[in-house]
Amino acid sequence: MNNFSTSERRIFSSIASTLVGEPAGDAVVDAALPFIRRLRPLDQVLLRGLLRGIEYGAPVFTGSPHRFTRMSSVKQEAYLRGWAESRIELRRQGIASLKALIMIAYYGREEAWDAVGYDGPWLGRVDVPVLPAPDLRSTDNAPRPSRPRSKRNLEPGGRWLSPGVIAGRDLPKDRVLRAQVCVIGTGAGGAAALARLAERGVDVIAVEAGPYTTAKDFTQRELEMLPLLYREAGLRTTSNKAIAILQGTGVGGSTLHNTGLIYPTPEGIAERWRQEHGFPLDSQTLERYVAEAVGSLRSVPIPLDRINENNDALRRGAEALGWRYRIPLHNRLECLGCGYCMLGCAYNRKSNAALTYLPRAVAAGARILSDAAVTRIDGKAGARRVVCQIKGADGTSTGERVIVEAPVVIIAAGALDSPALLLRSGLGNGRIGRGLRLHPAAMVSGVFPEPIRSWRGLPQSVIVEEFASFFKDGRGGFLILPSASNWPGMTAAVVSGMGAEHRSRMREHPFVASSAVLLHDETEGRVTTTRDGQPVAHYWPNSGDLEELRRGVEAAARVYFAAGARRVYLPYADAPVVRSEAELRGALAEAHAIPHRISLNAVHPQGSCRLGSDSKESTADPHGEVWGEPGVYVADGSLFPTSVGVPPQVTIMALATAVADHVVEAQH
Ligand SMILES: Cc1cc2nc3c(=O)[nH]c(=O)nc-3n(C[C@H](O)[C@H](O)[C@H](O)COP(=O)(O)OP(=O)(O)OC[C@H]3O[C@@H](n4cnc5c(N)ncnc54)[C@H](O)[C@@H]3O)c2cc1C
Ligand code: SF4
Repeated sequence: MNNFSTSERRIFSSIASTLVGEPAGDAVVDAALPFIRRLRPLDQVLLRGLLRGIEYGAPVFTGSPHRFTRMSSVKQEAYLRGWAESRIELRRQGIASLKALIMIAYYGREEAWDAVGYDGPWLGRVDVPVLPAPDLRSTDNAPRPSRPRSKRNLEPGGRWLSPGVIAGRDLPKDRVLRAQVCVIGTGAGGAAALARLAERGVDVIAVEAGPYTTAKDFTQRELEMLPLLYREAGLRTTSNKAIAILQGTGVGGSTLHNTGLIYPTPEGIAERWRQEHGFPLDSQTLERYVAEAVGSLRSVPIPLDRINENNDALRRGAEALGWRYRIPLHNRLECLGCGYCMLGCAYNRKSNAALTYLPRAVAAGARILSDAAVTRIDGKAGARRVVCQIKGADGTSTGERVIVEAPVVIIAAGALDSPALLLRSGLGNGRIGRGLRLHPAAMVSGVFPEPIRSWRGLPQSVIVEEFASFFKDGRGGFLILPSASNWPGMTAAVVSGMGAEHRSRMREHPFVASSAVLLHDETEGRVTTTRDGQPVAHYWPNSGDLEELRRGVEAAARVYFAAGARRVYLPYADAPVVRSEAELRGALAEAHAIPHRISLNAVHPQGSCRLGSDSKESTADPHGEVWGEPGVYVADGSLFPTSVGVPPQVTIMALATAVADHVVEAQH
C-alpha cells in the first residue's frame, strides 16, 4: 500500500486527534505511512477496514445519525472509549493497534516534542566522536581464492562470492551460491554460529532478511529507526494484538538495537533444562561457552557514575526496602550516555554482533547475503536448497531469487520466524512452534517531584532481583528493570487512556520514571503461520502468570513509593492513579488483566523450537538438530526449553556456538 485515499486520510487524522487529545492534522498520516507500509499485506487491508468500520459504524454503535468524522469531539472520544472498553475483543483489538501506530506517528514528530519536554537527538548538537569500526561490505569483485577450500563450493560456472556482506539485489538474478553450511539470520544466534563455523574452517554463507546498516544510518529518531531496525516497524504483536513484540532485523539482528545487558544463564534454569529436557551442557561446559560470549561482546561492568535518574529511582527504592538489585555487566564501551541504544548506537559504542562476531566471521572467510529473506528450505538430507527472496532498498520484494545450496542449514531467524520457516518448508515434527515464551513485561511508572528525564543517560543499569526465584530452582519469579525506550512516541504508545487524560500524562513525562516487570513465564504459547507463511504468535499469559505479574506490578509500585514518587501509574486501564502505598491493594483489586486492558510488551520471544531428548516433546534434539531432518539445525532463542528469565543474548550466543561446534564435529 503506498497511500491512503482522501477519505481514509481524513478518518485516520480524526481518530488521531481524538486519541492524542489535540488536533493532529495531516502530518500524522504522513508520519504513519512508512510504518503502515511495513505491515503485512493482510494487516494493511484490515487497517483500512477498521478505519471504515469506525467511521460508518458510529450510527450503529451509538444510535447517533452521524458518522465518526461528523461527530463533535466530545462524542468522538466517548465513541472511541466505547471501542476501547468494549466487551467485544475485536473492537478493543482494533483500537489498541490503531493507538500504538498513531501515538508513535504523532509523538515521533519533532513538532510534538517541546510540549512533552523532550529535547531531541544528540546528533547535530552534541559532539561525540564515532569510534572506528570495520566495514564489512564485500564488492564481490575480489579475485577468487587461488585455492578455494573446496571445489564443491564454487558456483556453477566456477564463480566465487568473496567474503563480506553483499545485498542480494547486487547479485545477478537467480544466482546459485554454494557453501558447506548456510546460516539463516545474523542476530545473536546466527552471528555466533557463523563466527564459530568460519573460524573452524567451514565454508559458510549467512542469509539475512534485513539490510546492512552502520553507525551513520542511526539517526536517533523513532520515525526513521523503528521502520529500519525492527520487524514490521516495531508494530509486531501477538495474534490478538494485546502484546507488542519487538524483534530486530538487519545484519546483526536484534543485537543492533538491544540495550546491551549481559546476563549469564542462571544455573537454576540450566539445571531445570538438564533434568527435564536433556540439555547436554554440564555446568562447566555451559560456563565456558557463556564466558566466551561475554568476552566476545567485550563486556564490562557498568560504571556507577553512569546510572541515570530513571535507574537511580529504582536503586533508591530497592535500597530503602532492603531488596536485592544488580548493576550488571554490559557491552557498551566508552558509552557517553546519549540514551538511544534501542534505536542503534550512532557512535559505535555498543559492541553488538555486527561489531564483534560478524567481523571475525568475515575475516575468517564468511559470506553474508543481506536483504534476502528465506522463503523456504527445499531439497533432501545432504542437499538442501535455501530459497531467498530478494528485497529492494525500500525493504519490499523485488520478485527475484537467489538460491544457496548447502548440505547443512542452521536456522537462526528468531523465535517467531524460525518456526515459521520450518512450517512453511514442511520440515520437522508436530512440536514446531509450540512452547513459545515471551517474558511478557508490564510497565509501572512513578511521578517524581524532581525531573527524571528518563530518555537521557545510559538506559538500563539497575535490575531488581529480589523476586527472581528462578535463579535458584528455575521456576517462577520476575525481574524489575527500567524502561529503555523513553522517547515520546514509544512512551505515548504505552501510556494508558486517550484524549485529555493521555495528553496530560504526556505533559508530565520529564518527571516520570518507568520500569518493566519482566516475567519468567510458564505459559506455553504457539507460533503458527498465515496462509502466506508469515508467523503468528498465539499467546496470552495463563492465570498463574497473570497473578505473578500482578505481584510484580505491586512490587514495582512499592519501589517507586519508597524512592519518593508522588503517584504511581499501573499498567491496567481500569486501575485508578495510586497516590500512596496504602491505596495500592485497592487499586489492584479494580484492575482487569484481560487483553487490551493491561498494557504488555515482549522483547525476548523464545522457546518455540525447543530442544529436548524426547522427540514427542521437542522440535530439535539436544544438539539443535531438527528431529527427522538430518543437517537442519536451529541456533537461536527458539531452542530454549523454557523461559530463561533474564536478558537472553548471552545464553543464545552460548547455545548457538555449541550447535556450531557440534556441526563441525559431526562432519568428521
Ligand atoms: C528492545 C530490545 C532490547 C533488548 N535488550 C537486551 C539486552 O539488554 N540484553 C540481552 O541479553 N538481550 C536483549 N534483548 C534480546 C536479544 O537482543 C534477543 O533475544 C536476541 O538478539 C535474539 O537472538 P536471535 O538470534 O534469536 O534473533 P535475532 O537477534 O532477532 O536475529 C534474527 C535475525 O533473523 C533475521 N530473519 C528473520 N527471518 C528471516 C528470513 N526468513 N530469512 C533471513 N533472515 C531472517 C532477522 O532479520 C534477524 O536479523 C533485547 C531485545 C529487544 C527487542
Ligand atoms: S547510550 Fe547506547 S546509544 Fe548512546 S553512546 Fe551509549 S551505547 Fe551508544
